[in-house]
Amino acid sequence: MKRLLTSLLLPSSLAIGLSFLSGYSAVAADHFNWPKSRLPIPVCIVSGKSVPGYRPQLESILKQAFDDWMIASAGKIQFVFVDKLDGGQGITCQWTNDRAKLTSTVEDGETIVVPDAEGITSAKILLLTVPPKAMATLTDNYARRVALHEVGHALGIAKHSSSASDIMFGTIYPEDKACALTEGDTAALASAYSPADKASTASTAGASGVGTASDLLGGQAADAEKISTPSASGSNALPTTSKSGTETPAMRGLRLNNEAAEAMNTGKFDLAVSKLEEAYKLAPDNQLVGANLGMLYSNLSGVAMMSRNLPLAETYSKKAATLIEKFSTKANLMLVLRGQGAILHMAGKEAEALKVEARLKTLGAK
Ligand SMILES: [Zn+2]
Repeated sequence: MKRLLTSLLLPSSLAIGLSFLSGYSAVAADHFNWPKSRLPIPVCIVSGKSVPGYRPQLESILKQAFDDWMIASAGKIQFVFVDKLDGGQGITCQWTNDRAKLTSTVEDGETIVVPDAEGITSAKILLLTVPPKAMATLTDNYARRVALHEVGHALGIAKHSSSASDIMFGTIYPEDKACALTEGDTAALASAYSPADKASTASTAGASGVGTASDLLGGQAADAEKISTPSASGSNALPTTSKSGTETPAMRGLRLNNEAAEAMNTGKFDLAVSKLEEAYKLAPDNQLVGANLGMLYSNLSGVAMMSRNLPLAETYSKKAATLIEKFSTKANLMLVLRGQGAILHMAGKEAEALKVEARLKTLGAK
């Protein structure tokens, strides 16, 4: 009896594992650009007048950076500078002289990109008015390089280039040298906007060090089958309706679990999260629900990482680790912790990152 129900449930739980994969790539690869319907992209540059270290030249440099990318896009992207964003859709640019406002200590600017099911809906660029430690002043050349780099992220280039001459290279050296978009940068943009290259964009995202998302995902997709094994308690092996027609909380939890899989299939992440979170509340001991919610959090952490939203990536990763430790395999836990270590590292939280690394060692990591 238990066996039969188990095998009936297996296909749907497997579907969840797979749909997480397709749902993820829908956002990260297929739609990680500004859709045609949102062009020209409204750009709102908030005046930096009140920010110490600001000079009007910085705004001209930033506008030039947008122009350069528009030309490099060969007609695929247009911008319109506006005083206010309508409904929050578009790119906002702001200056700060406070380095602590940046979540990443690696760059002198930062861009957070917010996608929905169709593509990028908004992006926030934060630029520093103060020079990096190794420079006495923030020169025009350096400001231009940072501006070009961050606008590149805002347009959907999630991956850093491995070539030091590219603007989209991961490190911006503190030097006062003229710079311009390279062929590599133009190709990166073309790839983000070309349907043919979608798959390769997603699969190579891991190379940058930012793209631990795809590493996590790949590992989890491979392990999806393990997650679908119901626990020995048989708590997963419940039909979704009982003979009497009344739905117990555990049954409702499983129904929500399956609805979440459907939501994932259609790329509705928010809906999938709310359904799985509700399912988890109703059936907190159900291994299938717990493991799936953990995987969803982990994938959302990856998406947040691609969007360069480190605080959100960290939050999701921690939620994922808690659930995966309880409900899933050690291999999946190690994958999540590896991603978490990279996130903490990027956020400059070295002490916490070391703790995660130590934990990985106790789990048997080399
Ligand atoms: Zn960058």
